Amino acid sequence: MTTITTLPLRTPITAGESLDSWIDALARRNDTSPREVLRALGIDHLGQSIRQLVDELDSTQLRRIEAATGLPPHRLDAATGPAVPGIERLSMHCSRFCPRCLAEADGRWQLSWRSSWAMVCGRHRLLLHDTCPGPDCRATPRVQIVGGATAPPASTCSRPISRSWLRCGGELFAAADLPAPDEVLDAQSWIDQLMAAARAPGPDPAHATLTDLHLVVAWLLRLDRAAAIAAARAINPRRHATPPQPRNGSPPDLDAALTAALLIRARTVLGDDEASAIDELRALVTKHPNPQRVSPPEFTKRHFVVMPSQFPNRYLRAVDADLPGAVRLRMRTITASAAIPRADGAARIRMLPQLFWPDWAGRLLPVAGGFHTDLFRAALSVLLTVPGDPSQRMDTHAGLLNPRVTAANLSITLQGFDKLPSGSALTDVLVLLCRITEHLDQHGTPIDYQRRREQIPAETITWDQWRDLACSVGAHPGKHRQGRLRHAQRHLHQLLSGADLADHRHPLAFRSPNDRGTFVEFTTAMAAPLRRALNEHAESILVNLAIDEPLTWSPPTDLADGLALPGIDTGDLDPDKVSRLVVDEHRSSREAAEVLGVHLEHVRIAMERLDQPRRQWAPHAAPAAWLREQHAARLFTREFFDREYIQAGRSLNDIAADTGIGRHIITRFAKQAGISLRRARAPFRIDPVWLREQYCAQLRSTADIAVELGTEQMRVNNALHQHGIPVRPQGVASRTEMIMTFDHLPPIIRASVEGTLHGWIRLHRFRITMAFPSLGTAAGYLGIKSNSLLHQLRLLERHVGAPLFHRSRRGTAHKPTPHGQTLLRELDNEHVQPLMTAALHACNALAMPDAKTLAHAVREAMTPPRNPGLLKPFGDIPVGRLRMTRTTLTLLRHLTTTDAEEFYGHGLHQCTSIQHGTLYPLLRSLEQAGWLTSRDEDEADWLAGAPPGCGPGRRRTYYRLTPNGRRAALRELNTPRKRQNSENPGATNP
Ligand SMILES: [Zn+2]
Ligand SMILES: [Zn+2]
Repeated sequence: MTTITTLPLRTPITAGESLDSWIDALARRNDTSPREVLRALGIDHLGQSIRQLVDELDSTQLRRIEAATGLPPHRLDAATGPAVPGIERLSMHCSRFCPRCLAEADGRWQLSWRSSWAMVCGRHRLLLHDTCPGPDCRATPRVQIVGGATAPPASTCSRPISRSWLRCGGELFAAADLPAPDEVLDAQSWIDQLMAAARAPGPDPAHATLTDLHLVVAWLLRLDRAAAIAAARAINPRRHATPPQPRNGSPPDLDAALTAALLIRARTVLGDDEASAIDELRALVTKHPNPQRVSPPEFTKRHFVVMPSQFPNRYLRAVDADLPGAVRLRMRTITASAAIPRADGAARIRMLPQLFWPDWAGRLLPVAGGFHTDLFRAALSVLLTVPGDPSQRMDTHAGLLNPRVTAANLSITLQGFDKLPSGSALTDVLVLLCRITEHLDQHGTPIDYQRRREQIPAETITWDQWRDLACSVGAHPGKHRQGRLRHAQRHLHQLLSGADLADHRHPLAFRSPNDRGTFVEFTTAMAAPLRRALNEHAESILVNLAIDEPLTWSPPTDLADGLALPGIDTGDLDPDKVSRLVVDEHRSSREAAEVLGVHLEHVRIAMERLDQPRRQWAPHAAPAAWLREQHAARLFTREFFDREYIQAGRSLNDIAADTGIGRHIITRFAKQAGISLRRARAPFRIDPVWLREQYCAQLRSTADIAVELGTEQMRVNNALHQHGIPVRPQGVASRTEMIMTFDHLPPIIRASVEGTLHGWIRLHRFRITMAFPSLGTAAGYLGIKSNSLLHQLRLLERHVGAPLFHRSRRGTAHKPTPHGQTLLRELDNEHVQPLMTAALHACNALAMPDAKTLAHAVREAMTPPRNPGLLKPFGDIPVGRLRMTRTTLTLLRHLTTTDAEEFYGHGLHQCTSIQHGTLYPLLRSLEQAGWLTSRDEDEADWLAGAPPGCGPGRRRTYYRLTPNGRRAALRELNTPRKRQNSENPGATNP
């Protein structure tokens, strides 16, 4: 229990006086020490520190002192500690002083002198002193409560002199005057005003400024200590030379002059003039560049992030130019609302389409820039989630908005703006993005894009709806359901939800670049009526989903005011000019873009605004057919048929002629209306036996028969089908050449020309061919391919029923068989020649070759084969030597190991798998070199082997290995071979 002694003598406390000063006065009045006074007042557990006395007495103790000393209640509140800790900073462990005030007030100390922001005495316009003016002292006054038996004299330095009970006793009121410069007085009055404003009830920006003031002052000191000290010396030339050491975590104990020097600068940085504050900061930071750090150098980020004053904003704006684009966007350092991010960009996703609003995309898309349009628009949308987002990554919200956009896409987009020749494009784009973000955050959007992305189905329009919609406005619905229908669904989806269809996760995603191309073509070339109809359909979708929102929206255009954006306002493109280029001159969008000097996408956006005319369709095209169908459905009602067809007895043909609608359509509607139709005519009877005789035996044409019967050709055709009579191919079978007979001609020629169209041509060609030594030379003369000629001659052989010639082999000409000779003879017959001439058309009537042509052909056909190379003969075996290729060795190995005596080409091919094209020349070479002999297949066998109804095919040549050939083959096969040995004539040649 503390005992309180009522003091015998009392003394009043003066205005603004500090508690410790008044205690001193009481002690002097009662002739005791301040410590004794405190003890008498029941304050005995304090330490020695005056700072504790002033700052830490609680209100119970204060009330007790007031009661004991006869002061009115709460009088001591004004004489103690800070009302708002952290703002007024009444926390110096010592006190400054004005010597004149001390002299005038009888040594009473002002509380305000304990404030670290106290620099001058406003009354005397003097800088406050920090230390005892004694020549060897320099102690800071009023640190400890003085003990002992008596009170120290007022206004003297009470610093104990070491190892003695004596004190300094320097007379503080005698200190020299330090005139304060005007700017220091201004800084002091600025601080005083801030404190007065902060003390007033209610929030005030002064509060935030004072809270951050010590941090800013400490930063200014660390940033440029030398400059600060030089400025302090200018204010007080006699100040202590030793720079003060700031203590960790607490405000530095600065002397009045240094405080003044720093506050003058801090006042610029934190004062009301924003522009000069930013300029000052920029100048300071430029001296100490550290662009990669967002928070100021020499400043802990932890403090910077929570600073309530204008300082972080101004600092960020000052360093804007040095920051990377992503940071500028995230912290909005280009705008007045620059701040350390705190909000979550995810909240904005609902307000964003996956593809940036088209008009705005046009204004941002550089006229000459390699941006991929879709990805550009997608990236811009994701960039709107970045401002104000605390995450370090730009693509934090890309996954929610558009997963296909990566951080790299975003960086490349920003870099793309930075690289534009205009230089400042990136800044203007960032400003716009920040403005749009701000608009979204403050006003929101009338459209909830996220809801639309979730609720609007992929199939926004069905096939039937689309066909009716397209045809009703004269547009083609497309031939199948995947084509224009899909594009229409995509267009509606993009219109409503701004979806990015390049994302393959979307059900309507583009399946190929070509698919995207046709979609772009579809949307840009859309005629105005179709566009309006689709917009109406889109609105009806919203109504059905109970979404009460406008169809489309985009941020207000005034957000771009004052900005030089890299793109163009597509609304400024002259629509007449675009229309002339694209609609009238049918130029591609790309060409139009070149002519107009804009980006391709700008033309597309402009085209979507054009009033493009609808196309005119041919009568059979889908829109016209649909219109006819609609017209027919309105016209051909049950009542119509009752009136016209049944009561008036008009025929369907009459109705068709009147209405201009096809009879088959009228028939369909009549059946739908439940009308039973009258049979048009009685069936026409044709006697089948007579018809078969006329058509098959007499070979009359159906047209001919129809004329005789007095009916239409189609009825005759129907009758043929009905009675199962085989119908001749149309046209060919009825031609004169097909039905001509030549009873007087030799049988071999009749067989060639009767019942065929081209028999005479084949005979003519056979005749010419036989004049030549080979098929190849003959075909060259006839101007056709050898294969074709061979085919024709085979056909001729098939008609004649016998082979007509022996094929040529190298060195020997082909020659006619006896049948062929007979045929050639008959062709020279004087009865036949005129017939042939008459049958040949001019183009086929080629004359027989002259002697010169034939001589040339013989030379060509009979040229011996190229000498395969001189190889050293075997010597003991009288056969020519050949180069041994791997294929040759394979063949020889087979020939020497098989049991058969004779071989033919196709059989060898089957056994050895050597291709025909290689095999036959090889066999010929071996034969010429004397390894093989050959004979043609027996004629009887050849003809007997032909399948029934076909020609006999190629005549086989049988080969046999000669004894010398066998020896030579075994010699070659047993010769060891080295690869790549060109010296050895028998080396393999792979
Ligand atoms: Zn004064
Ligand atoms: Zn002293």
